[in-house]
Amino acid sequence: MLSPATLPTPLTVLDEPALARLGVELRLKRDDLAHPAVPGNKWRKLAPNLERAVAEGAPGLLTYGGAYSTHIRAVAAAAQGLGLASVGVIRGEELAQAPRNWSLRAAEAAGMALEFVPRPLYRELAARGGEPREGFLVLPEGGSNALAVRGAAVVAAELASQLPDLGERDLVCCPVGTGGTLAGIAAGLPPGARALGVAVLRGEAYLEREVAGLHRAAYGREFGNWRIHHGYHGGGYGKVPAELEQFAAGFERRHGVPVERRYVAKALSAVYGLATAGELAAGTRVTVVVTGLPDPGDGLSRS
Ligand SMILES: *Cc1c(COP(=O)(O)O)cnc(C)c1O
Repeated sequence: MLSPATLPTPLTVLDEPALARLGVELRLKRDDLAHPAVPGNKWRKLAPNLERAVAEGAPGLLTYGGAYSTHIRAVAAAAQGLGLASVGVIRGEELAQAPRNWSLRAAEAAGMALEFVPRPLYRELAARGGEPREGFLVLPEGGSNALAVRGAAVVAAELASQLPDLGERDLVCCPVGTGGTLAGIAAGLPPGARALGVAVLRGEAYLEREVAGLHRAAYGREFGNWRIHHGYHGGGYGKVPAELEQFAAGFERRHGVPVERRYVAKALSAVYGLATAGELAAGTRVTVVVTGLPDPGDGLSRS
Protein backbone atom coordinates (compact mmCIF):
# COMPACT_ATOMS: atom_id res chain seq x y z
CA MET A 1 0.00 0.00 0.00
CA LEU A 2 1.21 3.46 -0.84
CA SER A 3 0.51 5.62 2.18
CA PRO A 4 -1.64 8.67 1.45
CA ALA A 5 -0.22 12.18 1.25
CA THR A 6 -0.91 14.63 4.07
CA LEU A 7 -2.77 17.43 2.31
CA PRO A 8 -3.05 20.33 2.24
CA THR A 9 0.57 20.89 3.19
CA PRO A 10 1.06 23.55 5.89
CA LEU A 11 1.41 27.22 5.04
CA THR A 12 3.54 28.99 7.62
CA VAL A 13 4.35 32.68 8.10
CA LEU A 14 7.98 33.47 8.88
CA ASP A 15 9.09 36.19 11.20
CA GLU A 16 11.96 37.72 9.21
CA PRO A 17 12.84 41.26 10.27
CA ALA A 18 15.30 41.78 7.39
CA LEU A 19 12.44 41.27 4.90
CA ALA A 20 9.80 43.00 7.02
CA ARG A 21 11.90 46.19 6.94
CA LEU A 22 11.62 46.06 3.14
CA GLY A 23 7.86 45.54 3.31
CA VAL A 24 8.10 41.94 2.14
CA GLU A 25 6.22 39.12 3.86
CA LEU A 26 7.52 35.57 3.58
CA ARG A 27 5.53 32.37 3.82
CA LEU A 28 6.57 28.77 3.31
CA LYS A 29 4.36 26.18 1.66
CA ARG A 30 5.72 23.06 3.29
CA ASP A 31 5.48 20.53 0.50
CA ASP A 32 8.49 18.78 2.02
CA LEU A 33 5.94 17.39 4.51
CA ALA A 34 3.55 16.04 1.84
CA HIS A 35 4.51 12.39 1.89
CA PRO A 36 6.76 10.16 4.00
CA ALA A 37 8.17 8.02 1.16
CA VAL A 38 7.83 10.18 -1.95
CA PRO A 39 9.23 13.62 -1.15
CA GLY A 40 7.92 17.07 -1.98
CA ASN A 41 7.19 18.02 -5.54
CA LYS A 42 8.01 14.50 -6.67
CA TRP A 43 4.79 13.43 -4.98
CA ARG A 44 2.80 16.26 -6.59
CA LYS A 45 4.06 15.34 -10.05
CA LEU A 46 3.78 11.59 -9.65
CA ALA A 47 0.32 11.42 -8.07
CA PRO A 48 -1.72 11.86 -11.31
CA ASN A 49 0.69 9.58 -13.19
CA LEU A 50 0.28 6.87 -10.56
CA GLU A 51 -3.49 7.17 -10.83
CA ARG A 52 -3.19 6.70 -14.55
CA ALA A 53 -0.86 3.69 -14.19
CA VAL A 54 -3.33 2.05 -11.83
CA ALA A 55 -6.36 2.96 -13.99
CA GLU A 56 -4.70 1.52 -17.09
CA GLY A 57 -3.52 -1.55 -15.24
CA ALA A 58 0.08 -0.83 -16.21
CA PRO A 59 2.29 -3.49 -14.64
CA GLY A 60 5.18 -1.09 -14.15
CA LEU A 61 6.78 2.35 -14.26
CA LEU A 62 9.88 3.20 -16.25
CA THR A 63 11.83 6.42 -15.98
CA TYR A 64 15.17 8.14 -16.45
CA GLY A 65 17.66 9.88 -14.19
CA GLY A 66 21.18 10.47 -12.97
CA ALA A 67 23.08 8.61 -10.28
CA TYR A 68 21.65 10.78 -7.49
CA SER A 69 18.21 11.49 -8.92
CA THR A 70 15.48 12.16 -6.38
CA HIS A 71 12.95 11.42 -9.11
CA ILE A 72 14.42 7.92 -9.59
CA ARG A 73 14.12 7.17 -5.87
CA ALA A 74 10.60 8.62 -5.78
CA VAL A 75 9.42 6.43 -8.67
CA ALA A 76 10.99 3.35 -7.07
CA ALA A 77 9.26 4.04 -3.75
CA ALA A 78 5.91 4.82 -5.36
CA ALA A 79 5.99 1.70 -7.53
CA GLN A 80 6.89 -0.43 -4.55
CA GLY A 81 4.00 1.04 -2.57
CA LEU A 82 1.57 0.28 -5.37
CA GLY A 83 2.93 -3.20 -5.99
CA LEU A 84 4.15 -2.25 -9.48
CA ALA A 85 7.42 -3.12 -11.16
CA SER A 86 9.86 -0.29 -11.84
CA VAL A 87 12.80 0.28 -14.15
CA GLY A 88 15.29 3.14 -13.82
CA VAL A 89 17.37 3.99 -16.87
CA ILE A 90 20.48 5.61 -15.40
CA ARG A 91 22.89 8.04 -17.09
CA GLY A 92 26.41 6.58 -17.19
CA GLU A 93 27.34 3.13 -18.43
CA GLU A 94 30.43 3.07 -16.18
CA LEU A 95 28.21 3.05 -13.07
CA ALA A 96 27.08 -0.50 -13.84
CA GLN A 97 30.36 -1.91 -12.50
CA ALA A 98 30.91 0.59 -9.68
CA PRO A 99 29.68 0.06 -6.11
CA ARG A 100 26.19 1.53 -5.81
CA ASN A 101 25.94 4.96 -4.22
CA TRP A 102 23.31 5.53 -1.49
CA SER A 103 20.74 6.83 -3.98
CA LEU A 104 20.91 3.90 -6.41
CA ARG A 105 21.06 1.52 -3.46
CA ALA A 106 17.81 2.98 -2.15
CA ALA A 107 16.16 2.62 -5.57
CA GLU A 108 17.26 -1.02 -5.84
CA ALA A 109 16.18 -1.73 -2.28
CA ALA A 110 12.69 -0.55 -3.31
CA GLY A 111 12.71 -3.14 -6.08
CA MET A 112 13.73 -0.98 -9.03
CA ALA A 113 15.68 -2.66 -11.82
CA LEU A 114 18.49 -0.37 -12.98
CA GLU A 115 19.72 -0.14 -16.55
CA PHE A 116 22.88 1.86 -17.16
CA VAL A 117 23.29 3.53 -20.54
CA PRO A 118 26.14 5.53 -22.11
CA ARG A 119 25.77 9.27 -21.72
CA PRO A 120 25.24 10.12 -25.40
CA LEU A 121 22.45 7.57 -25.68
CA TYR A 122 20.97 8.78 -22.40
CA ARG A 123 20.91 12.37 -23.65
CA GLU A 124 19.14 11.25 -26.80
CA LEU A 125 16.54 9.23 -24.87
CA ALA A 126 15.96 12.02 -22.37
CA ALA A 127 15.56 14.62 -25.12
CA ARG A 128 12.81 12.49 -26.64
CA GLY A 129 11.03 12.17 -23.29
CA GLY A 130 11.89 8.49 -23.10
CA GLU A 131 11.16 5.46 -25.18
CA PRO A 132 7.96 3.39 -25.03
CA ARG A 133 8.29 -0.06 -23.52
CA GLU A 134 5.67 -2.77 -23.47
CA GLY A 135 3.97 -3.04 -20.09
CA PHE A 136 5.38 0.19 -18.64
CA LEU A 137 4.07 3.66 -18.10
CA VAL A 138 7.05 5.73 -19.23
CA LEU A 139 7.81 8.94 -17.34
CA PRO A 140 10.35 11.45 -18.70
CA GLU A 141 13.53 12.45 -16.87
CA GLY A 142 12.54 14.52 -13.83
CA GLY A 143 8.95 13.33 -14.21
CA SER A 144 7.63 16.49 -15.90
CA ASN A 145 4.83 15.55 -18.27
CA ALA A 146 1.35 17.04 -18.75
CA LEU A 147 -0.14 15.04 -15.87
CA ALA A 148 2.72 16.09 -13.59
CA VAL A 149 2.01 19.73 -14.35
CA ARG A 150 -1.63 19.23 -13.36
CA GLY A 151 -0.45 17.58 -10.15
CA ALA A 152 1.79 20.55 -9.36
CA ALA A 153 -1.10 22.93 -10.04
CA VAL A 154 -2.77 21.51 -6.94
CA VAL A 155 -0.11 23.34 -4.88
CA ALA A 156 -1.51 26.65 -6.11
CA ALA A 157 -5.10 25.52 -5.59
CA GLU A 158 -4.30 24.61 -1.98
CA LEU A 159 -2.59 27.93 -1.51
CA ALA A 160 -5.66 29.76 -2.82
CA SER A 161 -7.78 28.07 -0.18
CA GLN A 162 -5.23 28.83 2.55
CA LEU A 163 -4.81 32.49 1.50
CA PRO A 164 -8.29 33.47 0.34
CA ASP A 165 -7.18 36.89 -0.96
CA LEU A 166 -4.34 35.41 -3.05
CA GLY A 167 -3.89 37.88 -5.91
CA GLU A 168 -2.02 41.01 -7.04
CA ARG A 169 0.26 41.21 -3.97
CA ASP A 170 1.37 37.62 -4.25
CA LEU A 171 4.47 36.07 -5.68
CA VAL A 172 4.76 32.30 -5.44
CA CYS A 173 8.32 31.15 -5.77
CA CYS A 174 9.81 27.72 -6.47
CA PRO A 175 13.06 26.25 -7.78
CA VAL A 176 13.24 25.15 -11.43
CA GLY A 177 14.92 21.92 -12.52
CA THR A 178 12.87 20.68 -15.45
CA GLY A 179 10.15 23.31 -14.99
CA GLY A 180 7.17 21.04 -14.31
CA THR A 181 6.60 22.38 -10.83
CA LEU A 182 6.74 26.01 -11.92
CA ALA A 183 4.45 25.29 -14.88
CA GLY A 184 1.85 23.74 -12.59
CA ILE A 185 2.01 26.46 -9.96
CA ALA A 186 1.65 29.22 -12.56
CA ALA A 187 -1.30 27.46 -14.18
CA GLY A 188 -3.05 26.95 -10.85
CA LEU A 189 -2.81 30.53 -9.56
CA PRO A 190 -5.81 32.85 -9.54
CA PRO A 191 -5.76 36.01 -11.69
CA GLY A 192 -3.28 38.65 -10.51
CA ALA A 193 -0.96 36.33 -8.58
CA ARG A 194 2.40 35.62 -10.19
CA ALA A 195 4.87 32.74 -10.11
CA LEU A 196 8.63 33.17 -9.95
CA GLY A 197 10.87 30.24 -10.80
CA VAL A 198 14.50 30.22 -9.75
CA ALA A 199 16.72 28.27 -12.14
CA VAL A 200 19.03 25.84 -10.33
CA LEU A 201 21.03 25.17 -13.48
CA ARG A 202 22.37 27.20 -16.36
CA GLY A 203 19.51 27.17 -18.82
CA GLU A 204 18.68 30.61 -20.11
CA ALA A 205 15.85 30.47 -22.70
CA TYR A 206 15.87 26.66 -22.67
CA LEU A 207 13.97 26.49 -19.38
CA GLU A 208 11.43 29.08 -20.54
CA ARG A 209 10.79 26.98 -23.64
CA GLU A 210 10.31 23.90 -21.46
CA VAL A 211 7.74 25.59 -19.23
CA ALA A 212 5.81 27.01 -22.19
CA GLY A 213 5.86 23.58 -23.84
CA LEU A 214 4.54 21.94 -20.67
CA HIS A 215 1.73 24.51 -20.53
CA ARG A 216 0.74 23.71 -24.10
CA ALA A 217 0.89 19.97 -23.38
CA ALA A 218 -1.17 20.20 -20.19
CA TYR A 219 -3.60 23.02 -21.01
CA GLY A 220 -3.35 23.65 -24.75
CA ARG A 221 -2.25 27.23 -24.16
CA GLU A 222 0.45 29.41 -22.62
CA PHE A 223 0.33 31.52 -19.47
CA GLY A 224 1.75 34.98 -18.91
CA ASN A 225 1.93 35.07 -15.10
CA TRP A 226 5.37 33.57 -14.56
CA ARG A 227 9.03 34.20 -15.13
CA ILE A 228 12.33 32.50 -14.36
CA HIS A 229 15.22 34.23 -12.64
CA HIS A 230 18.61 33.01 -13.80
CA GLY A 231 20.87 34.76 -11.31
CA TYR A 232 20.79 32.32 -8.41
CA HIS A 233 21.92 28.93 -9.73
CA GLY A 234 25.21 29.28 -7.85
CA GLY A 235 27.30 28.11 -10.79
CA GLY A 236 25.18 25.23 -12.02
CA TYR A 237 23.26 22.11 -11.10
CA GLY A 238 24.38 20.62 -7.79
CA LYS A 239 26.80 23.49 -7.14
CA VAL A 240 26.47 24.98 -3.66
CA PRO A 241 28.91 27.89 -3.23
CA ALA A 242 30.10 28.69 0.30
CA GLU A 243 27.94 31.80 0.44
CA LEU A 244 24.79 29.80 -0.36
CA GLU A 245 25.73 27.15 2.19
CA GLN A 246 26.13 29.87 4.82
CA PHE A 247 22.80 31.42 3.88
CA ALA A 248 21.01 28.06 4.10
CA ALA A 249 22.60 27.17 7.44
CA GLY A 250 21.59 30.57 8.84
CA PHE A 251 18.04 30.12 7.61
CA GLU A 252 17.85 26.70 9.25
CA ARG A 253 19.12 28.13 12.54
CA ARG A 254 16.69 31.05 12.54
CA HIS A 255 13.59 29.16 11.45
CA GLY A 256 14.17 25.51 12.31
CA VAL A 257 13.22 24.41 8.81
CA PRO A 258 15.57 21.98 7.00
CA VAL A 259 16.77 23.56 3.75
CA GLU A 260 17.51 21.27 0.82
CA ARG A 261 20.61 22.78 -0.81
CA ARG A 262 20.48 22.03 -4.56
CA TYR A 263 17.02 23.50 -5.11
CA VAL A 264 15.24 25.04 -2.14
CA ALA A 265 18.24 27.04 -0.87
CA LYS A 266 18.56 28.71 -4.28
CA ALA A 267 14.89 29.73 -4.38
CA LEU A 268 15.06 31.11 -0.85
CA SER A 269 18.27 33.02 -1.47
CA ALA A 270 16.75 34.54 -4.60
CA VAL A 271 13.88 35.96 -2.55
CA TYR A 272 16.27 37.57 -0.06
CA GLY A 273 18.53 38.78 -2.87
CA LEU A 274 15.70 40.31 -4.91
CA ALA A 275 14.12 41.92 -1.85
CA THR A 276 17.45 43.43 -0.79
CA ALA A 277 18.05 44.72 -4.32
CA GLY A 278 14.70 46.50 -4.16
CA GLU A 279 13.23 44.32 -6.90
CA LEU A 280 10.23 43.26 -4.82
CA ALA A 281 7.75 46.09 -4.26
CA ALA A 282 6.87 46.92 -0.65
CA GLY A 283 3.68 45.05 0.20
CA THR A 284 4.69 41.95 -1.75
CA ARG A 285 3.66 38.71 -0.13
CA VAL A 286 6.04 35.93 -1.11
CA THR A 287 5.30 32.25 -0.67
CA VAL A 288 8.26 29.93 -1.24
CA VAL A 289 7.25 26.37 -2.04
CA VAL A 290 9.55 24.04 -0.11
CA THR A 291 9.75 21.43 -2.84
CA GLY A 292 11.73 18.81 -0.99
CA LEU A 293 13.81 17.61 1.91
CA PRO A 294 17.59 17.51 2.24
CA ASP A 295 18.99 14.30 0.79
CA PRO A 296 19.14 11.38 3.19
CA GLY A 297 22.46 10.54 1.50
CA ASP A 298 25.96 10.12 2.81
CA GLY A 299 26.93 13.78 2.53
CA LEU A 300 29.67 13.00 -0.01
CA SER A 301 30.00 15.02 -3.19
CA ARG A 302 27.40 14.37 -5.80
CA SER A 303 27.03 15.14 -9.44
C1 LIG B 1 13.26 17.61 -8.41
C2 LIG B 1 13.23 18.82 -7.55
C3 LIG B 1 12.90 20.10 -8.06
C4 LIG B 1 12.73 20.35 -9.54
O1 LIG B 1 11.41 20.38 -9.96
P1 LIG B 1 11.06 20.52 -11.51
O2 LIG B 1 9.61 20.27 -11.57
O3 LIG B 1 11.87 19.49 -12.22
O4 LIG B 1 11.44 21.89 -11.94
C5 LIG B 1 12.79 21.14 -7.17
N1 LIG B 1 13.03 20.98 -5.86
C6 LIG B 1 13.37 19.79 -5.34
C7 LIG B 1 13.65 19.69 -3.87
C8 LIG B 1 13.50 18.68 -6.16
O5 LIG B 1 13.85 17.49 -5.64
